[in-house]
Amino acid sequence: MTLRQTRGEPYHPRSMPSRKRAVTTSSGRKQNASGARRKIPVAVLGGTGTVGQRFVQLLEGHPWFEIIEILASDQSAGRSYAEAVGSRWKLTTRIPADVAKLRVRAPGDKLQGRVLFSALDASVAGEIEHEYASRGHLVSSNARNHRMDPGVPLAIPEVNRDHLKLLDLQPYKNGGGLVTNPNCSTIVIAIALAPLHQAFGVDAAIVTTFQATSGAGYPGVPSLDILGNVVPFISGEEEKIESETQKILGRIGPKGITHAEFPVSALCHRVAVLDGHQMAISLRLKTRVSKKRILDAWEGFRPLRKLNLPSAPDQPIEARPENDRPQPRLDADRAGGMGITVGRLRPCPVLEWKFEAVGHNTIRGAAGAAILNAEILVRDERI
Ligand code: NAP
Repeated sequence: MTLRQTRGEPYHPRSMPSRKRAVTTSSGRKQNASGARRKIPVAVLGGTGTVGQRFVQLLEGHPWFEIIEILASDQSAGRSYAEAVGSRWKLTTRIPADVAKLRVRAPGDKLQGRVLFSALDASVAGEIEHEYASRGHLVSSNARNHRMDPGVPLAIPEVNRDHLKLLDLQPYKNGGGLVTNPNCSTIVIAIALAPLHQAFGVDAAIVTTFQATSGAGYPGVPSLDILGNVVPFISGEEEKIESETQKILGRIGPKGITHAEFPVSALCHRVAVLDGHQMAISLRLKTRVSKKRILDAWEGFRPLRKLNLPSAPDQPIEARPENDRPQPRLDADRAGGMGITVGRLRPCPVLEWKFEAVGHNTIRGAAGAAILNAEILVRDERI
């Protein structure tokens, strides 16, 4: 299911956001003879992998963006997308016909896409993304490589839209730039904590994750290691959650981002769940508040509601009242996989409060997050 189908918004050229500047620019956004705006041409880097496939699925019928190029490793380059991805296509929807026939490009090839969505393997993403940003492309990346660079936004539009101003300080010319989205667990934690940090101040947080196998890419964790088992180690994950959360919830000033100072402790586990990361979160707030005020802060957190972004959920955080929710199988797909779900808010005898949260790791935690970042950049007239 695509986000567009989920949200029931048929494509209409005039659903493109209005812009003050002319649309016939080097950005590739041009008007046709009837004055209707064309979609923005985009490419998916690493389009054959787990996250790359999600990009292809979510961008099918997107009202603003159209995939014109796919790039992957030399092993895939030169073949049609359908042939290159072959039996690795693991989504329940079909490969879109117009993408299936695209010839896969190799790293370094000249690309026409105005926006490059990156799902590249982290072993190569850093250099390739920098190279294409230098050539004037806006790169919206899932990879970890540039997330903690001081000059690169680690963006969640609902949480830290103002951090996108860092793009003005980047060295790239001709419309080039680099924006990243957080690690697939961090984004769930950061969204759940954001309204509480804004309203009451977070003083400390401990997060225990139960992470889906799709988070490891394909083929990921061997079945004999994960079936009927819990693996209490995901390389680099705890460090990413602890540092990225502080950057995301930090404040931007003239000299860049001042990271939030509260400590985050993460304990990460891989579990035999296909999609959807679950986390148990304990936290102490700087202000003593009632349970109702926390629930109200989550409920009222709708910072993008007037912007009509195609991938933005109407309600980013939903608090479930049941004792046994949220669960990945029941809640990860909420709002086309873009909404996070919380529940079981209760007092914690060690810190102060504890609750559970769930988010879709390859949608809200990866491809959908990067698409939403590009949408807010269009809305902010940076694309
Ligand atoms: P994956 O399934 O292993 O896919 C990796 C992609 O990178 C493939 O398209 C692969 O192309 C391409 N690639 C590998 N080596 C390359 C090279 N030398 N040059 C060009 N392309 C190359 O990985 P994934 O799970 O989709 O993750 C992709 C990125 O997103 C990673 O940086 C990961 O950390 C991040 N991420 C993943 C998740 C998740 O839930 N899975 C969540 C958030 C972030 P070939 O098919 O040709 O090999």
